[in-house]
Formats: sequence, C-alpha cells, structure tokens
Amino acid sequence: MKKNILIILTGGTISMKSVGNLGVVPTSELADFLKQFPQLEGVANVEVLDYLNLPSPYMTPQMMFELAKTIDNKILSYDGVVVTHGTDTLEESAFLADLVLTTRKPVVFTAAMRSGGDLGLDGPRNIIGSVRVASHHESIDKGVLVVMNDEIHTARDVTKSDTGKVDAFASPGFGALGIVDPDTIVYHRATLYRENVWTETLDTRVDLIKAVAGLDGKYIDCSVANGSRAIVIEAFGRGNLPKELLPSIENAIKEGVIIVIASRSKTGRVLPEYGYDGGGKHLQDLGAILAGDLQGVKVRLKLMALLGKYDNIELVKRFFLQSMPAE
Ligand code: ASP
Repeated sequence: MKKNILIILTGGTISMKSVGNLGVVPTSELADFLKQFPQLEGVANVEVLDYLNLPSPYMTPQMMFELAKTIDNKILSYDGVVVTHGTDTLEESAFLADLVLTTRKPVVFTAAMRSGGDLGLDGPRNIIGSVRVASHHESIDKGVLVVMNDEIHTARDVTKSDTGKVDAFASPGFGALGIVDPDTIVYHRATLYRENVWTETLDTRVDLIKAVAGLDGKYIDCSVANGSRAIVIEAFGRGNLPKELLPSIENAIKEGVIIVIASRSKTGRVLPEYGYDGGGKHLQDLGAILAGDLQGVKVRLKLMALLGKYDNIELVKRFFLQSMPAE
C-alpha cells in the first residue's frame, strides 16, 4: 500500500533557478512542480507544505529548531516526512532535527546541487529517492536520514564535502548507510550510535572557533565578553592547541563557560593523549571537555540543545559526556 508522505519545502538551490544577470536566485516554482510531478504518483501519496523559501546560509539554529518541531507535529498525520533544504547548512538542520525529534518514523532531508534550468538536474531525482526512502519500512527508527545522489547518509555523519559536485555529500570515515537503487532501497549498515536531546528550548549562546597556526586567545576572550555559555574549539588533530590560548581558556572555565574541544580533522576522535601545555590531556585536566568524533558544527548544536534543556552547567557537561562511547 502507498504511504502518506509530507514534503516540507524550506528553500535552497532545489527551489532556485538562474535568472539573467541576477545569478541563481530563489523562485516559488517547486511546490507547483511537485504537485504535477508524474513520477511521484506511483511512489507515495504526497502532500506539500510550502514552509520557507530561503537560501540555507540564512537558516539560524532557532529556525532549524522550529523546523524540527514542525516535523515532529506534522508527522503525526503521515507515515514519513521529506524536507527539501539548501545544501550549505543541510547537515546542521538535519543533525539538530536528529537530536530533538521524538518520532521514530522516517524523516529524510534532501537538496540539489544544480538549480532549475541546469543540465542534468539532480533535484527531482533526489526528491523521488527521498520519498522512496521515507516510504520504506527499513527506514523506521534510523534517525534523520539524508538522501543525495542515490545515497542514504545519517544526519550525524554526513557533511557537504564538495562545493559543486552532484556527489557533494559524504560520511567521511564511515561511508553511506545505504543506496537508492532503481528496484529497491538497500541498507548496508546500521546506525549504532544515536543520541537524543529532547528539549523544548534552545540556548543559542554557543560559539565555535577554529584553530589555526599562531592562534591566540582573542576570539575566546571576545566570546566570553559577549556572554557565551559554551565555546567549541576545533583544535588540531587529537585535540591540541597553541599554548598561547591557555590564559583565555583558563579564564573562560573560571567564568563558568563550557569549553569543548573538537577536531578540525574530518575523521577520528579527540583524545586526552598529549600532555604538553595545550595538548588534549592538558586541556582536559584544565576542565575542557573532549567531544569524541563529532564535528565542531554539530557539537555546537548539541550544546545549544543541552543548554536549552538544563540550566545547570554541571548537568550539561555530564549529559554531554554520557553520550560518548563508553571506555
Ligand atoms: N546556497 C545554496 C543553499 O544552501 C546551495 C544549495 O542549496 O545547494 O541554499
């Protein structure tokens, strides 16, 4: 029996086309296109919610959170939801939804790298693939999925790894969860590592700073002075930083700001391995939290959710650490 799927539109290149000298800009044509998209007919009973029409660089964490709440409410009346989104911040919206959604039904994010009018459009194909994945019984309880270029990824692992190619989305170190083949959906692996933060509010006072050679403490000082409750630092490799940051990190911790160390490397975990000043072990000894293998942009969103849920910083730290793999 055909499933009932809601497609929620939020904008992005999938809703854009090239208009003369203006370049690639938003249009309002996707909703109408989907209503007459013949290939969808045979796949599922589809309804469309024209929710937003934004370039995804305009999406804020609060907007992503409200989108997640909308999905959670709307999905009560459907078998699954597909969200079309800009590719630039898709991994953040999808991951925040993965954290806060309470539903176990399939939720699939998709997008396009090519805008309307381009040769070899990927958007319509990605939408069909996503509706098929959202309709498939094996997609239940897999967390939020991302379907691009006939591949199925988890929201936790996926990232936009290329600025222009149709196969821009990858899950570095792990690979796709499955594929969308013409005859069926094939899952290759399970999502073993899942985490949820069921919260009704988000606290967006969390910053992210990327380590570069010669970095000093000025950005950390600025964040603390501006009222940040937590700062994610994308450190080098296993989680190491220049020692010039230490006075600012120590001051931030003294002020009650949570310091979380992620890595600017694309794969692998941060570890308390190096004991020199600024090394991961030293930072942990000072009171910083090491974020495992979660990428910095996602660590930031997780902290926003935890800080929205718990007012007590010790609880936030404890719940952050509890979601890490056990030793
Ligand atoms: N700039 C676009 C966006 O994210 C890129 C895309 O959708 O592919 O909105």
